[in-house]
This record gives sequence, structure tokens and C-alpha cells, in this order.
Amino acid sequence: MQTASTKQELRNMLAEHRGKRIVMVPTMGALHEGHASLMRQARTLAGTGGIVVASIFLNPVQFDNAGDLATYPQTPEADLAVCESCGVDVVFMPTPGLMYCADRSITMEETYLSTVLCGAKRPGHFAGVCLVVSKLFNLVQPTDAVFGKKDYQQLAILRRMVRDLDIPVTLHGAEIVREADGLALSSRNVRLTPEHRAAAPAIRRALLAAKAAYETGTPADEVCRRVVDTLFTIPGVKVDYVELVDAETLHALQDEKRLALLAVAAFFGDVRLIDNIELTRNV
Ligand code: AMP
Repeated sequence: MQTASTKQELRNMLAEHRGKRIVMVPTMGALHEGHASLMRQARTLAGTGGIVVASIFLNPVQFDNAGDLATYPQTPEADLAVCESCGVDVVFMPTPGLMYCADRSITMEETYLSTVLCGAKRPGHFAGVCLVVSKLFNLVQPTDAVFGKKDYQQLAILRRMVRDLDIPVTLHGAEIVREADGLALSSRNVRLTPEHRAAAPAIRRALLAAKAAYETGTPADEVCRRVVDTLFTIPGVKVDYVELVDAETLHALQDEKRLALLAVAAFFGDVRLIDNIELTRNV
């Protein structure tokens, strides 16, 4: 495995691989089994003839909350070991100063999918995500990239970005990896208090109960209300949103025959957790 910290080092490392299948996994580090599953999928997609490129970059531009950025865990040595064990060929680990010019003046604004859910709550977040991912795609020029469905809205927006800007990359969505008790793995989970860590699987239980209720005909607003009620009973938890939307448009579900998405964001103390589940009507 090779590691590049500058753009030029990265370009030099990739020069000999042009023309091959190049599968990319962008991350912000503090890697866990969710990231590892993306890297293993990337390895399978690349096969023996292609290469896997992972990036580890805590992108300051996508943080709308300075405290969240300052407390975001960073574990570079362990991260490299995870990449190595998953068969990554090249790791790109730049610093913010190397990634961005101080007087950068181009922004990337998505104006429909990012107006709802997390986008409505975190101004500028998805513009920062689109900016960094488009830069990474320009640097690496991958044929494929793997993103987790944990960040469902992010994946939808990036699909829109590559479609609308004709970026020649195929995006792959990977299933959410969870702890045994159902909590979706997240780099932020280590910041939960023991009490909140013990309570957090309630999100998954509420989503599973909601799925069963929706499948058997419970109205969408009642499904959401039950999830809010469940989370409301946990001390120190503040619901940011619970919404049932069209899984593709991320806006109001116009047709119940279409795939729906139930998405949740909630603060456990000052740690913001997100999770989601896809829903279909069976009646
Ligand atoms: P992050 O480091 O949080 O930017 O995440 C990097 C990638 O890993 C994104 O595509 C995430 O959606 C994905 N990811 C994070 N957590 C999980 C998880 N529990 N299961 C699957 N993918 C995940």
C-alpha cells in the first residue's frame, strides 16, 4: 500500500494505473467497520486488474459547526492499518492547507435535494461535500466510487452531481453496517456518554417498528409521530428531524407505490446521530 499526502504524489502514484478500473472510497478518517465494508466492496469491484484508492481527509469545508470539527476523532495510524487490511492500494491523506488554496472562490451548490433533511439543518454542509468530492474525483479520476447509505442524502446528492456535471464515474451505494444492538456505526459514536450509548439503539428499534407499521398501512404522519415519541422518552435526547420522504426526490412522497425513506437525526447530548430505513407499502 502506498500513501500520498500531496496532490503531486498522488498523481505520480496513479500515473501507471491509468486505463485500469480505479475504485475510490472517500472518508474523513476515524475508520470503523462501516468504512472497512466500503473498502472491501471497492476491492471486489476493482478485482485483481484494478486498484482501490481511499482518501482520509477531515474536510473542514463541510462542517457547519466548529465544535463538531474540533471534537471529530482522528486516528491516522489505525486508519492506515484498516486500509491495508482491506486491500487498499493507494491512500490519499492531504492536510486542509494542501487540499484548498487560501483564496479559493468556487463553490458547488446543489439546489434541490440539499434543501431538505440534513441540508435544511446544516447550512453549507452539502456544498462542502460536493466541493471536496468533485476535487477528489478530479484528482483520482476514478471509474467507480463507493459511498454508504448511512449518509443517504449525501449519496443522492452525489448521484445528482455526477449526473448533472457529466462526471464519468459510477457510484455504488453500500448497506449500513451496525453494531450488534442495531446502532449504525459512526465515527462520532465514541463521543457518546455511556448512558447515551446504551440508549442510542432505540433509533434502530423505532425505525424497524416504523417499517412494520408503514408496510401494514399506518399513515406516514402517524409513523413519524411514533418515532418522535420513542426518542422523546430518552433523557438528554433532542430530535432534529424525523421525516418520511420519497427515497429518490427526498421530498414529500406523492405516490405511496414508490420507495420511501424514513430518515432520523437526533442529538444525544451534543452528538448528532443520523440513521434511516427504506420503506415500501405492502397493502
Ligand atoms: P465519513 O468518514 O463519515 O465521511 O464516511 C465515509 C463513507 O463511509 C461515507 O460514504 C459514509 O456513508 C460511509 N459510512 C459511514 N458509516 C457507515 C456505516 N455505518 N455503514 C456503511 N457506510 C458507512
